[in-house]
Amino acid sequence: MAQNSSIEWTQATWNPVTGCSKVSPGCKNCYAERMANRLAGMGQHRYRNGFEVTLQDDLVDAPLHWRQPRRIFVNSMSDLFHEEVPASFIADVFNTMAEAHWHTFQILTKRSQRLAELAPHLPWPRNVWMGVSVESPRYASRIADLRTVPSAVRFLSIEPLLEPISNLSLRGIDWVIVGGESGPGCRPMQAEWVRQIRRQCRNQSVPFFFKQWGGVRKKTTGRLLDGRTWDQYPQPQRRQASMNRDGDLESNRLAVQEARVCVSF
Ligand code: SF4
Repeated sequence: MAQNSSIEWTQATWNPVTGCSKVSPGCKNCYAERMANRLAGMGQHRYRNGFEVTLQDDLVDAPLHWRQPRRIFVNSMSDLFHEEVPASFIADVFNTMAEAHWHTFQILTKRSQRLAELAPHLPWPRNVWMGVSVESPRYASRIADLRTVPSAVRFLSIEPLLEPISNLSLRGIDWVIVGGESGPGCRPMQAEWVRQIRRQCRNQSVPFFFKQWGGVRKKTTGRLLDGRTWDQYPQPQRRQASMNRDGDLESNRLAVQEARVCVSF
């Protein structure tokens, strides 16, 4: 577990699973893969299998021993809903998050179908935020899967943004993060694509977080958009029941309306 994280929208990372495999174009220059291979080369025990999916059983209850409340990104080095991670292990991770109520946990997946299948069998305490990655319009179906999950915050990580996304339905979505790709071989992102998403967030009253421009050296490109940073955060909702994939459930529509009250641009 890393006590501090350089990822702009979180404070710490916790990796009860390491390793993954690629599922879509957003994975092409996966940072986790690069890091895992580097750490394996340095002889780090946790990365003895390189980027193969590896369960780190001894870390499942680690956040319970971490007393200071943090926003914790779960599995920055993997995808918790990877098909090789047993459902019982995922349930154990959720039970730890429920018990460690003083932390806020942020989970991100590209395996939205498995998420939607398992979600009815998992606890969804208010301190668990669930997100999906969407790099282009082709993967918008992940948003529909996310809508069926009764997490207190449903969020999108639109990073790396690879194409314009002009028709983004944010019904039932509480937060949007946008970022460009960084590191060797990174693919460029145009400012107008980012503004287009910001506009859609504003029109649909959803908080917008601009993470980075990216590039080969991301420190030099920074994270200012039109002269300022965009660090809006969501307001957790009370969700007892799940929506269908179109977002049609009255209790959740009310929750979305409540969220709108909390957003300021
Ligand atoms: S799903 Fe995430 S961790 Fe897995 S290969 Fe793709 S980018 Fe990397």
